[in-house]
Amino acid sequence: MYIGMDIGGSKIRGVLVEKSGKMLSNREVATPKSAREIDESIMHMIENLATSASVSKIDIKGIGIGTAGSIDKTKGIVVTAPNIKALSRHPLVKNIEKGSGLKVVLENDATIALIGGWWQGHGSKFRNWIMLTLGTGIGGGVIIDNKIYTGQSGNAMEVGHMIIDYNGRKCRCGNSGCLEQYASASALVRNTEELLASDKKRESSLRERMKDEELSAQMIYEEALEKDEVALEVLKDLATYLGIGVANLVNLFNPEAIIFGGGVSEAHKIILPIVKKVVKERALAGLKESTEFLPIKDQAVIPAMGAAKLAIDSLG
Ligand SMILES: [Zn+2]
Repeated sequence: MYIGMDIGGSKIRGVLVEKSGKMLSNREVATPKSAREIDESIMHMIENLATSASVSKIDIKGIGIGTAGSIDKTKGIVVTAPNIKALSRHPLVKNIEKGSGLKVVLENDATIALIGGWWQGHGSKFRNWIMLTLGTGIGGGVIIDNKIYTGQSGNAMEVGHMIIDYNGRKCRCGNSGCLEQYASASALVRNTEELLASDKKRESSLRERMKDEELSAQMIYEEALEKDEVALEVLKDLATYLGIGVANLVNLFNPEAIIFGGGVSEAHKIILPIVKKVVKERALAGLKESTEFLPIKDQAVIPAMGAAKLAIDSLG
């Protein structure tokens, strides 16, 4: 048995699986603020995954972990994680191996989503396809001729930092106008706050809900489904920028499919028709007609499953 974990900007998800891909248990916790607490959360989760499936820890062969940010696989560290600042330069692999006594393999969060989609999702149907994960930031991964393309150090496809407006919004990476400043969950929340603040008279069901709860991408999506105009406007804006990024990817890779995962992809019913329209307007003829745009299958667990698959293939 193997454990797969997906450490995101807001949540840590873990699964315990058999080599065949059968899931035995799965757990989710909020991502803590400090690196020490993140290590502790992971250690607790390993125990919980084992006990809730009545599995002895001795039978667990290894752990695959995917984190947001860029990573150094040989050193087993997270190099920079703009969306989980505490993990920057953090020796995650060493700490978890020491704490659990298990072998740990580290990967980028977008790559584990890609592997999960390849193993058990829509990706198994295609030979050339791209995964985009739209969460706190935006990640990406590409399968070329049925092989994962990772780049020289495993950090290829930093789609979130594709520059789409060189005079645009400042990004956490230090650059300006990166795609994730327009099309991530964090961008969605910030743009909504700015829109509501710029026109205090404009009615929105979001204002009511914000009296009791913090504004979130999920809330904006829920209100968009109820036809709230502010929520629809910000989601349409997000989808337009995303469409421009996607049109660039279609021109570069000529993929059979682009699969959308991450929290924002839950709003695919609103986002994907606009993405398709922008691609139709902007990508090259001969490339744009044959690409399929799909939401990820089983969003909550596919990335963690991909991390487990990575552990199976690397440690098994
Ligand atoms: Zn950036």
